[in-house]
Amino acid sequence: MVTSHTWHQGAVPVAPTWPIPVPLLPDELFSSWLVRAALLHGCDPLVLTGSIWPKWRLWCTDFDRGVPDNRLIKISRVAGISEHSFSSTSLRAILTQITPQNLDDSTWPWLLALGSRNRHRHGGVQYCPLCLACDRVPYYRMNWRFAWHTICAQHKVVLKDSCYKCGAPIIFHMLTISNPHLYECANCGFDLRTVNVSEAPSGALTLQLSADATVCKKQGNYSGQLMAAVDWFHLLSYFIEIFQITSRSKSTKLVNFLESFDISGGDLFKSSTGLPFELLSVVDRMRYMDAANKLIACHVSHFYESAKLTRLNKSTLCGRNTVVPGIISHLICDLPEVRHHGRERTVSTKLMPRSRSTVKAMMARLFRKL
Ligand SMILES: [Zn+2]
Ligand SMILES: [Zn+2]
Repeated sequence: MVTSHTWHQGAVPVAPTWPIPVPLLPDELFSSWLVRAALLHGCDPLVLTGSIWPKWRLWCTDFDRGVPDNRLIKISRVAGISEHSFSSTSLRAILTQITPQNLDDSTWPWLLALGSRNRHRHGGVQYCPLCLACDRVPYYRMNWRFAWHTICAQHKVVLKDSCYKCGAPIIFHMLTISNPHLYECANCGFDLRTVNVSEAPSGALTLQLSADATVCKKQGNYSGQLMAAVDWFHLLSYFIEIFQITSRSKSTKLVNFLESFDISGGDLFKSSTGLPFELLSVVDRMRYMDAANKLIACHVSHFYESAKLTRLNKSTLCGRNTVVPGIISHLICDLPEVRHHGRERTVSTKLMPRSRSTVKAMMARLFRKL
């Protein structure tokens, strides 16, 4: 059994009432454990959960975010695993530490969105082919749901977020007793472990590990200053927003500004779908994380000096809906303020051929909605 863990240590069943004890593995998602438990007992996940919670359509929801205690009691008794152990798989417990928002039913910051429609999903789960291949019992980890995770820290390879053969998202909850292995694609049966892996850029991994450490220690570091985890993640989302603004506007000043951090505008333009970070593909998020590592590694004074040198104005760094992190906002307050007015934002409704990148962005948004 794998013994290392970051988010929870797993649990060994004690006196379960069902025939086969099913240990909760280190860092395992609750949904992964439920699917394994059902398949080990020779039934489909839908059948098992229907018998335990007959009135709860859990597979139509993102229940890995957290399950109420009154529901955990039922599974806890039959599985011989404490409610506390199951509660430790809750993604809510982690994400509440890094976002000031109330976490409701909408898309959560930093959590990959499943895009559920009934039991079908459009994404939201990643995996490492080498981890699944090394597992004695293949299973899905909590960190494969986090938007800042794009790389397996153990194998240093880029995570996958779809089936190589059929392109379907990772929908292990749709596995049935006719294809009962968690390493199989639930759509086509392809062995998800047998794909080529690509080596990960070191910057993206460095930042991912910093983000993990920030969650675990409840505080992060930027520019030699310690800050609360929620502020550190706010800073990271602000940097990512700058990349997204640069991708959309292709502003020469912003491109020059980023080049002063050795960030190539051309690389960022490849990710210009306009989708929120939590809906982007693993490769697009990794590109942003690699670039953000360069920004976060520099002192805040370099941010200010570069903004001045490239003649950025304050409004470019403070979008209309942007809350600028405190450590940045007071520094950029003496940059020139140039507001754009309605005339520049007028959207043309004239039908005409669109550029390749615009069509690509429209298709990406459409696929997430279908
Ligand atoms: Zn791995
Ligand atoms: Zn497939």
